[in-house]
Amino acid sequence: MTTKKNLGFGKYFSPRMVQTTWTLAKGWAPLEITDVAPIALHPAASVLQYSQTIFEGMKAFRGEDGKIRLFRADFNAARFQKSASRVCLPEVPKDIFLKATYDAVSTNRDSIPSDEGEALYLRPTLMGTEGFLGVRPSHEAMFFVICSPVGNYYEKGQSGLKILVETEDSRAALGGIGDAKAGANYAASLRAAERAKSKGFDQVLWMDSATHQWIEEVGTMNIFFRIGDTVVTPALNGSILNGATRTCVLEILRDKGIRVEERPVSIEEIFTASENGQLKEAFGTGTAAVISSVQEFALSSGGRRAVLPDNGEIATAMRKTILDIQYGRTADKFGWCTIVN
Ligand SMILES: *Cc1c(COP(=O)(O)O)cnc(C)c1O
Repeated sequence: MTTKKNLGFGKYFSPRMVQTTWTLAKGWAPLEITDVAPIALHPAASVLQYSQTIFEGMKAFRGEDGKIRLFRADFNAARFQKSASRVCLPEVPKDIFLKATYDAVSTNRDSIPSDEGEALYLRPTLMGTEGFLGVRPSHEAMFFVICSPVGNYYEKGQSGLKILVETEDSRAALGGIGDAKAGANYAASLRAAERAKSKGFDQVLWMDSATHQWIEEVGTMNIFFRIGDTVVTPALNGSILNGATRTCVLEILRDKGIRVEERPVSIEEIFTASENGQLKEAFGTGTAAVISSVQEFALSSGGRRAVLPDNGEIATAMRKTILDIQYGRTADKFGWCTIVN
């Protein structure tokens, strides 16, 4: 026996992928299951020239009962369509998306890890493949699902994040593509994240692009704060990505009767609440890391700071509730899981 490897996030790939193509003339071809292999593209493909591409992030879990659960597939299918239409790619019909993700999990079932915190991460991807340099939507597209057995997203675990408030760059702007899961948004975000890391932070807090006063997201996650007895998250405004995990947290909080508000949240409110002792905890939500507790927000290195308790009551409860559903330790009362055979 070799010693068990630390899976990390996105380093390893399952052997099989599901794929299909679309053309304007003929629509969607049948799904195919193939070995994972490089893709041949025309150098003028719209994905390469104009970033006409979107993706999804989902997980499947091997439960303690031996069953495999695919999480929130309906939500991801709907969001994938919304993202596609925003960048003028063909919407993948819901039944094709659901079958492709189900088949990707089923065909790679031997590579689904089973330890706590581990899962099979799915990356459905849609891109324009037509070789044409004129600027208009591609008349050809490719849709595929690849899978990666993953462990924890952050090497240091799901807590203690130090976050730099980003006051120069913007991830997305109103009227842009921030609420689509588009690859181009990530290109826009890399520089600020690298800058923050070089200053000793884990990620940035994204602010609105016009004034940098209103909080949008934290890194590639949605953000929640507990102020007094109320849980607050920025309202979806068109440039914030509508996270599946965000909706899980909102639904669980409402189900538990905890007061929750979706509304604009300014950085001034957060620093003031911290100074008044009202800021009890903060956490990011996303498929990759589930719930990540934030320990510090800083305006700049050595600048105004809010330091808060790590792994607060709500973050801990949300993480437990979601993981218990994902690993089948508790009833799936919200109907979030699909059993994969
Ligand atoms: C994917 C993503 C999230 C989290 O969404 P989940 O569906 O919860 O994984 C948040 N923000 C951005 C920018 C994202 O791309």
